[in-house]
Amino acid sequence: MTRGTWIGHPGLRGSPDVIRLSASQLDQTDGRCREFAALKARPQVWPEVSERRRYAPWEAFPLGLVMAALDAVEFRDADLDEAVTHAVEESRSPLHPGAAAWVRHACHAYAEASAWIDDSLAGEGVVLLPEAQPRVVQHRSAAELRMLTAWGRWYAAQDGSVREFRRLRLRRPGPAGAPGTHAMALVTATGLRAVGSVYRDLPVEVRPDAAAPVRVRVVEVALDLDVLPKVLVDATPEEVRRSYHDHARPIALDVTVGGDRTPGSDCAECKLRATCDTLPNTPGLLGLADRGTHRRTWSVSTGRQYQICPAQAHLRELRLPSERGEDHTSVRRGVLVHEWLRIAHGRERPCTPADLPEDGPGFAGEFMTHGEYREIRPFLLAHLEVCPLTASCTDVRPEPTVAAFDPLADVLVIAKPDLLRRVDRRVVYREQKTTLSPDRFEPGDALSRVPQLALAVCLIAAGVFGPGGGTVELEVMSPQRAFVLSFDMADPAIVAQAREVVTGLVRDWHRDTGFLARPGRWCTGCPVARWCPDRADGDTSGPIEVDGVRIDPRTGEVLSAQAAVSIRAEAVAESISDPGTADEEPPF
Ligand code: SF4
Ligand code: SF4
Repeated sequence: MTRGTWIGHPGLRGSPDVIRLSASQLDQTDGRCREFAALKARPQVWPEVSERRRYAPWEAFPLGLVMAALDAVEFRDADLDEAVTHAVEESRSPLHPGAAAWVRHACHAYAEASAWIDDSLAGEGVVLLPEAQPRVVQHRSAAELRMLTAWGRWYAAQDGSVREFRRLRLRRPGPAGAPGTHAMALVTATGLRAVGSVYRDLPVEVRPDAAAPVRVRVVEVALDLDVLPKVLVDATPEEVRRSYHDHARPIALDVTVGGDRTPGSDCAECKLRATCDTLPNTPGLLGLADRGTHRRTWSVSTGRQYQICPAQAHLRELRLPSERGEDHTSVRRGVLVHEWLRIAHGRERPCTPADLPEDGPGFAGEFMTHGEYREIRPFLLAHLEVCPLTASCTDVRPEPTVAAFDPLADVLVIAKPDLLRRVDRRVVYREQKTTLSPDRFEPGDALSRVPQLALAVCLIAAGVFGPGGGTVELEVMSPQRAFVLSFDMADPAIVAQAREVVTGLVRDWHRDTGFLARPGRWCTGCPVARWCPDRADGDTSGPIEVDGVRIDPRTGEVLSAQAAVSIRAEAVAESISDPGTADEEPPF
């Protein structure tokens, strides 16, 4: 690692010459902000104008309690269940009951994984003991201090000949050969044990080892029962050094250098947020009167989840492992149509009949079967009539991430439109829906039934896409026809209605601190139901009824409504028809 060519910014102060990189930062996914990563690796660079950090009035990092309970078991001989109870009860901030259930589950999963690892090593005559002090690689020169850390759990043989680092995953194993794994192996092989805090002390005091290791292991432990630990690295220190040099060091260098700014979820924690000219600053975007409890991130998905059940929204905000239920045909259909359109529009040319051959899926053969293609082809044929790229346009961006910060609410807002483009330099923001009942989409109530449209109107009105306004479109596709509803930003009534919808969706979430469960038939499809002590486990046959609206529990289609479909009923319907993508694995 070197300082490279990272260039400082006005609006920041402090020393860029202390670089502390966490091994997991090497596994950044696409779409993350490179400048954020470079700043995160510089713990002694701060905003010129400091702001007092506000913390969540609830326990926002349940994994910390898992670590505390495991510490009690490994270093103080505590009973596992008693250690969990103690960690939960002694938590400095209130812990949601669903999060508490997950903490217990995760601790048991870890204990099960640990026993499996111990057994497999016992066959080789190796016994590992837990080490309380994390290891750190640290180099100091006249010019700079460089540190490489790894967050997880540490073990070693009594004589130091074998060392092991356990990388924790909340749910599923990560990709094989991730660069972060090579960096973790390097810290295990060459790092020294830190006496102080690797997150506070720069440099941190370290303790030499009596003996160098001859064998280095990195094992991945998914905190779920019945998921076997995966040995990612089992090598000599020399092999580890070589792998790091070949596969991880260039990436580590690259991370610290920074680069393009990409607004997105990183912005909430970014030191440059207040002065970043790439992240739109939009006071009043959400129409809220105060800054709420602390800085948070909100999207229409969060608002929808909160409408269905505050506990569900909270447990997902905590990033507890979530599960998607079985995909019914209609759900899969929507996913595949969106994926087809994303790829097709990425070519920046109109979709044509030649893209939809009768005898097979064409370019889509890589991600759908012939049967699935037959199912979605009528929707896509209908789309040809209203393909947005048929007319002249520029700056075509399928499924981009859009972010804007509302400082009056202290909320980072994230949106993911299906397609952005510019027509005559004005932005056109399109959402796309597949349905068997196209008639239920009407201009009069579309903004409340599809709140993504309302947020789009507010984002354009706030100038997120530049001056000059723009247009919001809803494309509705059925097997028989497709049509587009357009919302003209020049109409003040449209903007007023959109603001009302967005504020209505975010207001209660913004001031809630208890996130009570609201159980009902929708619990069947709740992605975090595993952790919820209040989930309803009743009869799952027949339609779901919400506010007088009957909803098909398999497809999410509205079967009948006694009155206008409420925002909540629409949220339940959409949670079935469009469950969204699985939540991202948090970066540890
Ligand atoms: S505010 Fe956002 S876009 Fe700007 S540097 Fe930070 S993370 Fe990147
Ligand atoms: S299972 Fe039901 S009550 Fe529990 S969080 Fe999910 S939707 Fe809410």
